[in-house]
Amino acid sequence: MTAIDKLPSISAVIKKYKLNAKKNLGQNFLLDLNLTAKIARSCKGLAESTIIEIGPGPGGLTRGLLSENAKKIIAIEKDVRCIPALTEIAEYYPGKLEIIQGDALTYLISSDTASPVHIFSNLPYNIGTVLLTKWLDPPEWPPIWNSLTLMFQKELAERLIAQPGSKQYGRLSILTQWRSDPRIILRLSSKEFFPRPKVDSAVVQIKRLKEPRFPAKSATLTKLVSKAFNQRRKMLRTSLKDYIPNVVEALELANILPSNRAEDLSVEQYCNLANILDKN
Ligand code: SAM
Repeated sequence: MTAIDKLPSISAVIKKYKLNAKKNLGQNFLLDLNLTAKIARSCKGLAESTIIEIGPGPGGLTRGLLSENAKKIIAIEKDVRCIPALTEIAEYYPGKLEIIQGDALTYLISSDTASPVHIFSNLPYNIGTVLLTKWLDPPEWPPIWNSLTLMFQKELAERLIAQPGSKQYGRLSILTQWRSDPRIILRLSSKEFFPRPKVDSAVVQIKRLKEPRFPAKSATLTKLVSKAFNQRRKMLRTSLKDYIPNVVEALELANILPSNRAEDLSVEQYCNLANILDKN
């Protein structure tokens, strides 16, 4: 294993700054800097990009990104105890790392941020889906970001790439695949983290499309998909009957069998149905 920089190891940083992991902040740190550099390398054009990193913690992924020559990183960390550790990294890479102590849930990416923008995070499990949903549904498309490279629990990562007919396919699969291309770039055993979590993880890279794959209004599509999957075992003519007045007629107009279930429909079929609802 080669050192990616001359800073102390992540274990030494955790010890030095007494960063005993806090459960309520979803703290499971990556220790292997070769692994974090590998995650960084999955994103092309780092040297020309602004990276927004959510939850850098002791800085494992941050150092991976910097060692791979990221032009500029804006790192948002809630835990004040991590700031001195991150400051040490900022001093080692002058002018490249801006540290913001704050909550990613309320942080807004400024429209002045130099593009292209790539978001990276080993997401705290408790806020992962909230942030992902927010990034996937900005007020305007295309969004400010070009790609999201995110570590999730393996099950959640598999839901994002799931195809119709599988039991993982659901609301997040459709909303992710409607306007982006998601793929799993790395699977990680829980032993890569300290402390070791109960589940394995995977890194998903989500590249945005310039235009949605199929035209539809985001608000209508989102509501329709939620209603359908709220009762995923029921036939659509039943699960959607309180939401769509002439449900059988609307489904047939969209070339969908009323006996289909939520998981049977493709992203395109959901978009077709959303457009029919908007017309009526
Ligand atoms: N990136 C580091 C790594 O890969 O080792 C740490 C990842 S750890 C799973 C999640 C990090 O997110 C922690 O450092 C935690 O303090 C931070 N965090 C948790 N909630 C946050 C929030 N709302 N806003 C910003 N950071 C948050």
